[in-house]
Amino acid sequence: MAQRDTKQLWVDVIERIKPTIQKAHILTWFAGSAILEKKEDGTVIVGLATTFAETWIAGKYTVKILQALQEMDDSVISVQYQVCPRLAEKNNIEGVDVKSLFANEEKKVKKVRNLNEVNVSRGGEKISSKILNERYTLFNFISGRANLLPHAACTAVSSAPGGVYNPLYIYGSVGLGKTHLLQAVGNEVLKNFPDMVVKYITAERFVTEVVAAIGNRYMSSFKDQYRNVDVFLLDDVQFFARKDSSQQEFFHTFNELYDRNKQIILTSDRPPKEIDDLDERLKSRFGMGMVVELIPPDFETRVAILNQKCKEFQLILDPEVLQFIATNLTSNVRELEGVLRQAVAESELSNKVTTIRSVAEIIRKLNKAQEIIGYDIDARKNQAMVKTSCDVMNIVSDYYRLTMDDLIGQNRHKEFMIPRQVCMYIIKHELGESYERIGAEFGGRNHTTVMHACRQTEKILKKNVKIVRDINTIKKEMGL
Ligand code: ADP
Ligand code: MG
Repeated sequence: MAQRDTKQLWVDVIERIKPTIQKAHILTWFAGSAILEKKEDGTVIVGLATTFAETWIAGKYTVKILQALQEMDDSVISVQYQVCPRLAEKNNIEGVDVKSLFANEEKKVKKVRNLNEVNVSRGGEKISSKILNERYTLFNFISGRANLLPHAACTAVSSAPGGVYNPLYIYGSVGLGKTHLLQAVGNEVLKNFPDMVVKYITAERFVTEVVAAIGNRYMSSFKDQYRNVDVFLLDDVQFFARKDSSQQEFFHTFNELYDRNKQIILTSDRPPKEIDDLDERLKSRFGMGMVVELIPPDFETRVAILNQKCKEFQLILDPEVLQFIATNLTSNVRELEGVLRQAVAESELSNKVTTIRSVAEIIRKLNKAQEIIGYDIDARKNQAMVKTSCDVMNIVSDYYRLTMDDLIGQNRHKEFMIPRQVCMYIIKHELGESYERIGAEFGGRNHTTVMHACRQTEKILKKNVKIVRDINTIKKEMGL
């Protein structure tokens, strides 16, 4: 075998066993190693740089090495080691350069670190626990007409950080998407300019870090971490009120970044002038670039936001349920999302479809709406109580335009089977009848058949919007 071939063979062997051995061990024991010879009888002689390496490798890795060798060359029978001090020499080119085997990996790690470096100081010490949440993008922020400007400003900044909108100051009341937009810019910048360093931090966290840095006397390393930042995202600056040292510290950071044309974005629950107990110099700097306000979304936008969230959470909900939520929660998108999440969690737990009734109940419990519009909980509840399985069977057969005989009968064709299973499902889940009773009502079927029907319907519900609508309409007919 030519020398070049044996060299490549040995590299391949190490690559093969690399994932199963600690990196440090490879770097230590395999450094400079090489295949010295492959004998006619199938013995491969591996040269190692030191006796320590020989002891270690012979004791631990012989089986792995032999297996890998045989995978690549099936004439190999055994492996032996030989210590060759020349392999330990610095300029030796005969042996493998183990470090280069990790070169690609390092590049990959570097790239990943770049994304997360936002929160990690140069020394590797963690200085902020908050990492950009990839869930927040400019794409999934629904601006509606009211918030076109903040959205457009964020888009502009993401494609040209440090440009004309600097600093960008976004304010608005709680739950209107300030953090969402701020982090979305961070994500977008890293996508557009992977080499930029983005730093996201809440003002609260900034204050904590200033206090810690003063206490531990590492103010200079605290300052250092902002030197390399290209985009600085500071959330909830109103928190700086009355925190004098932090304000001072931030004033310096701000000036330094601003002078070097680095992008600064700030959010707050009110405009700069209205933050009490904030240094006038900071107030005026905050207002120096562009100031935009987030406004509560109108009804159509709220419905669009709910639709977007359904897409993200992979939910299918009746449009009327979404409209109902949007009608009753008007001022805070976080609550809008919260009700949606809770409704879905409850429906998963109880195996019931989310209805206007269940959502109304959640809103009432949260006490979020003074008066629930479009639903009278008590009246509907009473109405629902009087239903029997026979009523449900009538409603379902009417809805699907089947006769009662077809609904109950034995025909397994889809157009009969699905309504039958849906009907059993509704009786089970809305009236709480036992499987046995339902089986009896459906022409004396076994309870396992009913169980199967209910499970089947649950499965279909997850992927079939039409059936979800069918069931919701039927339930409305039932007064649910
Ligand atoms: P704030 O920081 O203003 O209190 P957040 O940014 O934390 O509000 O937003 C609260 C929740 O509402 C987040 O899950 C966010 O994704 C969502 N949200 C707010 N506004 C919108 C919007 N216009 N489009 C999509 N989601 C939004
Ligand atoms: Mg926030």
